[in-house]
This record gives sequence, C-alpha cells and structure tokens, in this order.
Amino acid sequence: MRTHREIYQPNPEFAANAAIRSMDAYWELQNKAIADYEGFWKTYADEKIDWLSPYEKVLDESNAPFYKWFTNGKLNVSNQCIDRHLADKADKTAILFEGDRGDVEHISYAELSLRVNRLANLLREEFGIQKGDRVVLYMPMIPEAAYAMLACARIGAIHSIVFGGFSAEALKDRIEDAEAKLVITADGAYRKGKPYMLKHVVDEALEDGGKSVEAVLVVKRNHEEIEWVEGRDYDYNFLIKSQHAECPYEVMDSEDPLFLLYTSGSTGKPKGVQHNQAGYILWAQMTMEWVFDIKEKDVYWCTADIGWITGHTYIIYGPLAAGATTVMFEGVPTYPDAGRAWKMVQDHKITQFYTAPTAIRVLHKMGEHEPEKYDLSSLKVLGTVGEPIDPPAWKWYYEEVGQGKCAIVDTWWQTETGGHMISPLPGATPIKPACATMPLPGIMAEVIDHDGTPKEVNETGLLCITKPWPSMIRTIWGDPDRYVKSYFGDAVKDGKPVYFSGDGALVDDLGYITITGRVDDVINVSGHRMGTAEIEAAVKKDPTVAEVAVVGRPHEIKGESIFIYIVLKEGHVNADIAKHINELLANEIGNIAKADHIIEVPGLPKTRSGKIMRRILRSIAKGEAVTQDISTLEDPAIVEQIETKAREA
Ligand code: ATP
Ligand code: MG
Repeated sequence: MRTHREIYQPNPEFAANAAIRSMDAYWELQNKAIADYEGFWKTYADEKIDWLSPYEKVLDESNAPFYKWFTNGKLNVSNQCIDRHLADKADKTAILFEGDRGDVEHISYAELSLRVNRLANLLREEFGIQKGDRVVLYMPMIPEAAYAMLACARIGAIHSIVFGGFSAEALKDRIEDAEAKLVITADGAYRKGKPYMLKHVVDEALEDGGKSVEAVLVVKRNHEEIEWVEGRDYDYNFLIKSQHAECPYEVMDSEDPLFLLYTSGSTGKPKGVQHNQAGYILWAQMTMEWVFDIKEKDVYWCTADIGWITGHTYIIYGPLAAGATTVMFEGVPTYPDAGRAWKMVQDHKITQFYTAPTAIRVLHKMGEHEPEKYDLSSLKVLGTVGEPIDPPAWKWYYEEVGQGKCAIVDTWWQTETGGHMISPLPGATPIKPACATMPLPGIMAEVIDHDGTPKEVNETGLLCITKPWPSMIRTIWGDPDRYVKSYFGDAVKDGKPVYFSGDGALVDDLGYITITGRVDDVINVSGHRMGTAEIEAAVKKDPTVAEVAVVGRPHEIKGESIFIYIVLKEGHVNADIAKHINELLANEIGNIAKADHIIEVPGLPKTRSGKIMRRILRSIAKGEAVTQDISTLEDPAIVEQIETKAREA
C-alpha cells in the first residue's frame, strides 16, 4: 500500500492572524478539554452565548445517551444571531443574496431584524404558532427561507426544512412525521434562467395527507401562476406589510428543540434528527471561528442548500451567530457557464468558499481552466463536505481555485453531529490531501473496535465520538428507541455505549484520521478488508474517469468480489477500460484490489445532495431487482439504464 508523504503547510501569512495559529495552540486546547472536559466547554459557553439567565450544569449525563447541556440556561437563538449584533453591526451585510439571474441584494443586520420580527409576528399572531409547534419549510434558496428559520427560532417554533427537490410523497411523509401545523413555501424560484415551481408539490402532498396542516404561507418569488386553496393558502408578500416591526422573543431553555432535519437517506429510511438550542448554536458559532477563521470583514459563501444540515449550520446559524456576512445563492454554479461560481467570488470578494466534492468534480470537469479567468485573490479558506474527496479533485481545488495559497478544510461531520467534528484548522494543521486530519478541540473522535480497543495504525475501524458534545443529536423525533439503537448500539468504551457514526476510518502514522466510507461499504475479499472509498480514489487516477462507484458482490470462494461502475469523461471512449483499471488497481493498492466486474454506465444513482446510493448499486451487482425507494434520487431513470448495462456485461 502506498503511503503518500505529500503534506501542505499552512500559509504563514494567514496563520499569523488565525484564530488557532499552530499545532501547539491546537494541542493546548485539546489537552485542556481532555483534562477538564466540562471546564473547557464552560469557558466558551460563558464567552460566546448571550444568556438570558445562566445555566446550572455544563453537562448532565444522568439519563445517557439522552445528554443535556447547559441545563436550565435560557437564551434565544434569534437574539444570538441578530439582536445582539445590532449595537455594532446594524449596517453590516448579514445576508448577501444573489439570484439565479444575477440580481443582488444586500440585507443588513438591521434589515434582517426587521424582516424576521415581522414574520415572527405573522406566525404568532395570525397563524397562532406557539412555542413547540412544528413548521415545515419547503423553500427555494431565497432570503425568505432564512427569515422563516429565524422567525421560528424567535417564537420557539420547531422548523423542519424539506429540501425543495423532494417529491410530494417525501414531503408528505416528513409533514406527517412532524405533525406540522403550518407549511411555508414559495410559488417557485429561478434556476438556469427559467422559473421552476414548488407550490404544486405542497398541494399534492396535502391532497390526501398532512391533515395536521392548518395553513400554507406562500412567498411569491417568480409570480408565475399557481393554484390557490381559499381558506388554506395565505399570501406572504401581502400579509407581511402590515406586521409590527417588533416581536419580543420567546425565552427558550437550552434543551428546548430548535429544529428537526431528516438525514439524506443514503443508507436507509431518513431519520428525523432533533437539534436543541444552546449546544447547537454554541458549536455552530465556534466552528465558524475556528474552521473558517471568520473575520469581521470577510464575505463567506457556502453553496449548500438550506434543505441540508450544511445549509442550516453553515449558511444561516453559524455565520449569523458569528456576526458574519453570509452569501445565499439561488442558482447553480454552472449557469450561465462553468465560471459562475468564480465570477461570484470575484464580484463579492469572497473570502471563504465551502462546497461539496460532487460540485468540485462538476466544476473541474466543465471548466478546468475557468478559475484562471477570474480574480480569486480574495479567497483565504476553501472547504469541502459531504463525502470523501478524491485526490485529483482535491489537487485541482487547491491549485486552480486556491492558487496554492488557501488551506482546504476537509470537514467531516453529519446531520447528527450538528457541526464540524474532524477538520484541518486553516492556520495550524499541515494538510494531507483528501484527509479530514484531526478532531477539533473538544471533540473526542476515535477509531476503535466494537469493544473500544483502539485500532492499529492504518487499520480500518469504527469512527466513534467517545464523549458527548454540545451540538450532538438529542433524539430521533418521535422515536427515542431508534435514536439509542442507531447511534449507541455498536460500540462500547470503558463499559459505556459511545456514539458510532456509521462511518469507517483509519488513523495514519501522523495521527490523522482518514474516512474510508460507511462501514457497510467495506468489502471483504478473501479476508482482506478494503474501503470502497480507497478503491474509488485509485480508479479516479485514470484521467478518462469522471465518476466511479465500487460495491461488493457475494462470491463463492472469495467471500466478496469487487464490482466497479465507471462514468467516463465527456468525449472519451475507452474499449480497454476494464483491463486498464485493473492494472491501475494492482499498482495502487495490490492484486487483491482487482475487480471481477468493471462496467461503464451513463451516470450513477445519486441523492439530491449528490451522494451515491450504493445500496442500489449493490442490488444491481447481485443481479437482484431494485426494490429500494428511488423517489429521492436526482434522476430515477438512471437506475434502469444501469440495470440494462449490468445485464449486458
Ligand atoms: P443517512 O444517514 O440517512 O444514510 P447521510 O448519512 O447521507 O444519510 P448526512 O448526515 O447528510 O446524511 O451525511 C453524513 C455523511 O456524509 C457522513 O456520515 C459521511 O459518510 C459523509 N461525509 C460527510 N463529510 C465527509 C468528509 N469530509 N469526508 C468523507 N465523508 C464525509
Ligand atoms: Mg448518516
């Protein structure tokens, strides 16, 4: 196995002013957390949170794994994100919105406050929404989505955002699971220069279900024609005008729920992950300061959708709690051309850019030299999240986009963790490409066996967080047993169940953690365990390969054999691809990694957040009929095309 020794040191000029400036500084913090865990968190809770009344205990473990943080403390998250900034940041841009068609709006903290207060009043006064009520948001990426989240937080309502790409069926399931009283949506929005519609999906979802919903509040964005249900549908643009400019916020307990969010479902039925107030907002803010090194004058852009956890923590809550300027973008980074994202960086002088490997691959594929055409000198930190990034994509991101001077923070975390868990610190951590590196200070991430034994160097094990942390999932909505079983049923340390992420990882000789993929993505060939991510990374070294997915297939003798799906780059044909890939695998990993099946397909089955649904590919590799729900796929038709290809092979 090849161990690469390619390490990139932090940019010294950047490090000089960074929040955490060296590995010594990192260890000082982490050692403090190890020595006095509660004391560590107390320091930050006292410094960062605007408490309305003080908490009693930092961490209450009496009902583990239902942990409580900052017990009986009182706060309001919309105060933390807006009101407390008004004294010195009233005119600072809070949200910098860019529409699909290039329309730009700067929303100051004062303006944000006004709009959130008005909407909070509308929800409370006109719709009778009270503390603890659930409100489902089915919204495009427009500022009103942010106002709605913060207005819910202000009055103590629990929002549950459903990604605007989901079907009526998926929306209905989530509305019913949360028993939502109100749905907030929009007529639609713009994508690739054209209007697209959302409201009809809500209509369909409520046709024969979602009986708890009393009203639908509709934001008019594109003003296209929509159906209107009298007595149920309400016009936001009209109603908002007459609302009071001040809405007193609800005093919330640290452990009152803030929001629900369903996981993306790449491994099974989505879970309604519940996050609460104080611990979540504290870590959202701290990671903005540590991982993105956010500074007063920065303009920060995360390209996620608010329908995912990344959009919650790193477009809205984290940046606003930190008093930053956060960019919200309605469109796609490849329209009108592959330079759109880079033009936005240039136009707005963006300092931090945070996206997913799938977007990086698309931007790379569509415009390898596109970044050169723009002035990207404002960039300081680049981020990636969502899946393992492959070294070629990482290199391009580092060299072409970051021009060799920006740190890349490869952030590992999950819907359930609320915020970053493992990531380089841009001013401190020497970076190894495509490696999440070290747990953040205060986070006890370990690679262990089921019984808690640490794994040897470079040996794959279970990626666990062995101490509770403030922004962790509190429960699965309506199903506390599933919470315990899903996360605390696989690994024990010192006799206590610990949080298991579902991901496999290994620790290298530098002490760096590399994510190897989901544990059930490990393939066991004749007793050799290999992570699918590792094999995929090797296959991607072939310059004609655009995308790859590796799964295991039961094999009489070997236990499992390797089955590889390949998508070639546009304009490439390669008759010898299978032979070629196996030579590559033999060189990169060893003969053991050679695949029995390598097939070329037109595309891969992906969730709307860009993750490959390997369970579908596993079924196809086995020659089984695909029985999984494919309605949450970006392109359900791809499944049949892959099945046909697999049969022919
Ligand atoms: P479900 O839990 O319903 O199957 P999901 O796990 O895809 O859905 P998310 O919470 O959005 O939903 O994704 C978290 C997962 O994404 C992690 O468990 C990990 O597998 C992957 N991931 C996130 N960031 C990284 C990263 N930097 N490197 C490698 N993998 C990552
Ligand atoms: Mg998951």
